[in-house]
Amino acid sequence: MATDALRASDHPARWWRSRPDGRLECRLCPRYCKLQEGQRGFCFVRQRAGDQVVLTTYGRSSGFCVDPIEKKPLNHFLPGTSVLSFGTAGCNLGCQFCQNWDISKAREFDRLGDAASPAAIAATARRLGCRSVAFTYNDPVIFAEYALDTGRACRDLGIKTVAVTAGYITDEARPEFFAGMDAANVDLKGFTEEFYHRRCLGQLQPVLDTLVFLRNETRVWFEVTTLLIPGENDSAAEIDRASDWYAAHLGPDVPWHFTAFHPDFKMLNTPRTPPATLTRARDIARAKGIKFVYTGNVHDAAGGSTWCPGCGAVVIERDWYELGAYHLDGNRCRACGCAIPGLFERQPGRWGARRQPVRVS
Ligand code: SF4
Repeated sequence: MATDALRASDHPARWWRSRPDGRLECRLCPRYCKLQEGQRGFCFVRQRAGDQVVLTTYGRSSGFCVDPIEKKPLNHFLPGTSVLSFGTAGCNLGCQFCQNWDISKAREFDRLGDAASPAAIAATARRLGCRSVAFTYNDPVIFAEYALDTGRACRDLGIKTVAVTAGYITDEARPEFFAGMDAANVDLKGFTEEFYHRRCLGQLQPVLDTLVFLRNETRVWFEVTTLLIPGENDSAAEIDRASDWYAAHLGPDVPWHFTAFHPDFKMLNTPRTPPATLTRARDIARAKGIKFVYTGNVHDAAGGSTWCPGCGAVVIERDWYELGAYHLDGNRCRACGCAIPGLFERQPGRWGARRQPVRVS
């Protein structure tokens, strides 16, 4: 039965166990889906097939693009370089404001056009001169087996790996998942359990646990993104509380991006985020001692650029994803020598703001 039920793109899944009641429990994310024969989990891409759980999207992608690394967003990780980006289908959260819902809500067979092995992805990244490969567009936690195999193939070729994730993962799976990543951008979607419950169909605490784990237990370079949604998670009081937690648990050096919402998916009647809201959030976080706080999805020279915490000079000028003046020697401010945390080379990359769809074969 197990073999008959498998399709070509099914791959044995990890992080599950049998329960006394006969169901199989997926233990990859905090939903702990309990699966009867043939049943799919909340994420849709993990399914029970006979006496095992399978990942149904292994080796299949919703498409590949070469993006600027700043688009992930990562501002302190090989600035100016290109990153080969892809996702699959499905998601383990149910955000009503999802900005990638055509992918995350896709049922895999109507979306997944490009078959690509881990080795082919790594080889394509090298051929295109990409310094890293990003698992993005939908959450790589749900396709962890595929992402980790691809990460191994990339590292064999000297290519770095980036997870763009909501950090919604169990204590059990977290160490192995992030051991395969060189960098991550983690969404902190709000700072109340109520918001996560009502708008994301999830919980806040596992996300906080992921952030603390990354900070204390790993060498993964990570940055945090909060999409500010008018009237939902953008109050000064909420940003203030979040900033207190952030400074106390992550410290002053983890970059934080406040990005602008645009009406999408099930929140079409909510307006765009005013730039002033982003700036206010940035000011609150900076006042708590967080050194690298950015605004995103807007043209904002002050909020988009990196400023030296030592002397106040601009060290990397940015306009949206485009770099301007660059005043770093390696990771040091040219004016005062202060070290900027992150991964910087002698020269920035020159990819610019281009987004280029590519085929992997
Ligand atoms: S990864 Fe998918 S199947 Fe597993 S617990 Fe999460 S939503 Fe359920």
